[in-house]
Amino acid sequence: MPDKKYRIETQCIQAGYKAESGQPQVPPIVQNTTYRYYNAADVAKLFDLESADFMYTRLGSPTVNMLEEKMAALEGGTAAIAASSGQAANMITMLNICEAGDHIIAAANIYGGTHNLFGVTFKKMGIDVTFIDQNLSEDEIVAMARPETRALFGESLGNPALGVLDIEKFSRAAKRIGVPLVVDNTLASPVLCRPLEHGADFVVHSTTKWSDGHATSVGGMVVEGGKFDWNAHADKFPGMVEPDESYHGLKYYEKFGDQAFSVKLRAQMLRDLGCTMAPMNAFLTIQGLDTLHLRMERHSQNALALAKFLKDHPMTDWVKYPGLEGDEDYERAQKYLPKGAGGVLSFGVKGGRAAGEKFLENLELASIVVHVGDIRTSVLHPASTTHRQLSEEDQLKGGILPELIRVSVGCENIEDIIADFDQALKKVK
Ligand SMILES: *Cc1c(COP(=O)(O)O)cnc(C)c1O
Repeated sequence: MPDKKYRIETQCIQAGYKAESGQPQVPPIVQNTTYRYYNAADVAKLFDLESADFMYTRLGSPTVNMLEEKMAALEGGTAAIAASSGQAANMITMLNICEAGDHIIAAANIYGGTHNLFGVTFKKMGIDVTFIDQNLSEDEIVAMARPETRALFGESLGNPALGVLDIEKFSRAAKRIGVPLVVDNTLASPVLCRPLEHGADFVVHSTTKWSDGHATSVGGMVVEGGKFDWNAHADKFPGMVEPDESYHGLKYYEKFGDQAFSVKLRAQMLRDLGCTMAPMNAFLTIQGLDTLHLRMERHSQNALALAKFLKDHPMTDWVKYPGLEGDEDYERAQKYLPKGAGGVLSFGVKGGRAAGEKFLENLELASIVVHVGDIRTSVLHPASTTHRQLSEEDQLKGGILPELIRVSVGCENIEDIIADFDQALKKVK
């Protein structure tokens, strides 16, 4: 693991793996389900969590572990656990904290998949979620808490509504309630936003997006900040402090301290739910992270330039990009996303929903895909696709207007991107 003194650009390239003399320079793909041992005592240590060596790939494997180390370093956390998808990462993070009867407070304008997971599937499991306007005051957020509240959740940069979360306000509210703050940092990435430094306790990612960056691999990640004091709230989090009967009475926080949450995630959630990342996907995601700093800079530059162009275009009604001066999230973006406001913008084509659909069909360079974070410029109409499961009321609560077009601005030449949007807009009339 490289020295913490290195800056994020260096960490993107170097963290997580260092070849020994004569070993592969690039992290190898270790494609195995299992690992050999020569005596029962060594295997017993694995089962007692006395040894962190590998035994079975559902619980962890070398290539996946290199990615975990890299992400932990990039976010400045104490440990990280990879998952099979961003959905799985959010699911196991919350299930590691909550059980039936518990309650979560989440920002309303989060990713549609997470909104469904929390609002529909968790509800069936007996976990209740209150969705709130993330611009409520600290006192108003605290007032939403119940005795059974166990976590606060928000996205540093909301997908696709693009609100910038006031992480410090949420962190203060979480501290007053006595629960951890979980921040999904997918759209910003650790290059642009540092949730743990602003008081978040955990960071989650869909690595499917910018971490991978090339639209090859679905994956997720949970990063532990290591600062939450589980003992101070022992009554709320018995699973972290009381003996685990499935591990001979092991107490996670007492034994593993600032990595206790991650050890429990691996030992219970990956073991029981099996939502493990595959080695090949970890390998591809590591390749992506190597250039994350370069890509995020260019994605942000291109998105800002396209946002400015669209704002002045006669065929658009409005443009939402937090990096655009005058945007309602501009001040918060300056604070939480100082190196750039990311690669996603949204806008409304004049003529509403029908004009929006026509515009999409006119594009030549940009592709219609259900994705963000690719190096290729991608466009989507959320109301009719990613968010169609939500009622119109819930869509509006989440900031999804019927004419909204989401653009994930790629790393192509910005003049080519602008020319494509210009010709497609002109042909709408
Ligand atoms: C895509 C996404 C997810 C879900 O991730 P998958 O890898 O698609 O399962 C969660 N949160 C945000 C912000 C996302 O953009």
